[in-house]
Amino acid sequence: MISDNFILILSTMDFNSKEMITALKSLEMASKLCEMVRADLPSQGAILKSDRSPVTVADYGSQAIICKYIKTDFPDVSILAEENSLELRKPDNAPILEQVTHYVNTFIPNSSPAEICSWIDSGSKLNDKNFWALDPIDGTKGFLRGDQYAIALAYIEDGHVQMGVMACPNLYVDKEKPFDKKGCIFFAVRGRGSIQMEMFSGNKKVLSVMKVKNPEEASFTESYEPEHSDHLLHKKIAQRLNISAPSLKMDSQAKYGIVARGEATFYLRIPLSHYQDYKEKVWDHAAGSIIIEEAGGKVTDILGKALDFSCGARLEKNHGILVSNGILHEIILKVINQSYGVDT
Ligand code: AMP
Ligand code: MG
Repeated sequence: MISDNFILILSTMDFNSKEMITALKSLEMASKLCEMVRADLPSQGAILKSDRSPVTVADYGSQAIICKYIKTDFPDVSILAEENSLELRKPDNAPILEQVTHYVNTFIPNSSPAEICSWIDSGSKLNDKNFWALDPIDGTKGFLRGDQYAIALAYIEDGHVQMGVMACPNLYVDKEKPFDKKGCIFFAVRGRGSIQMEMFSGNKKVLSVMKVKNPEEASFTESYEPEHSDHLLHKKIAQRLNISAPSLKMDSQAKYGIVARGEATFYLRIPLSHYQDYKEKVWDHAAGSIIIEEAGGKVTDILGKALDFSCGARLEKNHGILVSNGILHEIILKVINQSYGVDT
């Protein structure tokens, strides 16, 4: 019998595949759109969705552009994306749709509002075991605040991520010079490694996680938003591992990029006790997880289970997220196991 790992290594894609070219082209365009909207903030609108998360002109514009290019190049493959045009089509939101149309037309001239809504909605289908997963803006709160956000696209076959591309337009290239060059695209193909490309120079480098073996030398990153994971528990776990470095709080999947390029050892995402039933979304982790694995790291849930991307939009069989450099994965899992659910 062929093992799971063996199947994963047999990716038919490479860095020059049609999938990668479409992904890079569309994410680059979507990044430019997001930065244009951001430059125009705060004049632009945000709609509160039914779950009260903000969705902006840039979310819709980014999803429209990326879905349009995927649908043109791969008409038969499903796209599972975070947004749909339900709110946008409401008469009250006509000014927002007008804004979205204005920005999309900068990149795809003569696109009508109806076409734009239909591109957005082409990302609402999941009727295939092979599909694209898209978060047009991961970390919308970070985007609105002027902090980090990511545009994340992955290609999934039979529940396994085969390719991931993640654009972080506001992420510093060099952590020693955080106010200098900004804008990174991370991309990975199963079995072929992870790469970071600087957005405006095109300079590339192969990524590798931090090689620390001693937990005391480790560091961790976590969500900026205190409602998205249990910061207090993360702190206790860090203390138990004698980690003295303060956590790096950051929005979006940019955290996966930080671990992949060796600037933090762990990314912890332990659900808060009042969100025990929260299920992570496929588009929030698919691209990031392959970027880590191909940089030599490991991604599981907080119980040590592999992430299962075959259950629809949510990671139904997983609980929380643990990202590490691989070397220290079992050690931190043990500490999580001792600390989780225990009133310490
Ligand atoms: P981050 O910037 O890492 O905090 O992640 C942003 C993502 O958190 C959003 O895209 C949401 O899908 C997700 N999210 C929203 N509410 C929660 C929650 N209560 N627990 C965990 N993740 C959440
Ligand atoms: Mg998201």
